[in-house]
Amino acid sequence: MTAHAPSAKLWQNARVVAIRPETARAKTFRFALTERSAHLAGQHYVVRLTAPDGYTAARSYSIASAPDESPEFELTVERLDGGEVSTFLHDDVTVGDELEIRGPIGGWFVWNGDSPALLVGGGSGVVPLMAMLRLARRTDMSGLVRLVVSVRTPDDLYYADEIVGPETRLIYTRATPPAFSRPPARLARDDIPQPFAPGVRAYVCGSSGFADAASDVLVAAGMPTERIRVERFGPTG
Ligand SMILES: Cc1cc2nc3c(=O)[nH]c(=O)nc-3n(C[C@H](O)[C@H](O)[C@H](O)COP(=O)(O)OP(=O)(O)OC[C@H]3O[C@@H](n4cnc5c(N)ncnc54)[C@H](O)[C@@H]3O)c2cc1C
Repeated sequence: MTAHAPSAKLWQNARVVAIRPETARAKTFRFALTERSAHLAGQHYVVRLTAPDGYTAARSYSIASAPDESPEFELTVERLDGGEVSTFLHDDVTVGDELEIRGPIGGWFVWNGDSPALLVGGGSGVVPLMAMLRLARRTDMSGLVRLVVSVRTPDDLYYADEIVGPETRLIYTRATPPAFSRPPARLARDDIPQPFAPGVRAYVCGSSGFADAASDVLVAAGMPTERIRVERFGPTG
């Protein structure tokens, strides 16, 4: 008899099989499940921590790895000083640990890999967009994808040895690498690749502030608002 993958509504254990640094403040955690992860690019898992006294804290983390047949998937977590869950994941979790997760979750902020997509990410907001870029590259559909990534400095760029490519435009807001032609500045209309592919959909992800600013820039560049999908990571206030 074939076992079915656990429902996305149920908690299950995932074992940490690898941890690697992305930047000084971000780590990628590779998890193994007993069944295939079966996620879509753009979806997330909820990670739940339980203290010895029964107190629990749960946070959402986007899946960074592309959908495939593997029972493994990756999450990339930025360490927020004073943050309950992200500091625990960074400071206490080691390879071999088991964590409770629920998912994959999300049906709106997903890209199935078969239509033009303009991806705009700020900081850790690049994580679900990386799953989309990886899917596009793995399926030879890179021509459908344009990715604009905004980071403060070169040291803040996630997936630095992988993300650069013909699909990718990097925006530095505070400091650039040597000989980089664009001066440091916030995302602006000229940073949006044009012309838009027919039927293109935009996926914007980052802090609430970044998401608002990037959406405004896209609209100013001519993207219809109904073609923009937004995922916000930060506190909603
Ligand atoms: C759908 C979804 C997907 C997400 N994917 C990712 C991901 O791939 N990688 C990732 O690192 N995070 C992601 N997040 C954010 C993540 O869920 C947590 O909010 C974040 O890790 C902070 O949790 P914490 O327990 O460490 O901090 P908390 O204890 O919740 O908060 C500590 C302090 O930080 C502030 N804060 C909370 N969240 C943020 C934030 N995101 N940015 C700035 N300040 C914040 C709080 O207001 C508070 O002052 C995602 C959020 C959502 C809703």
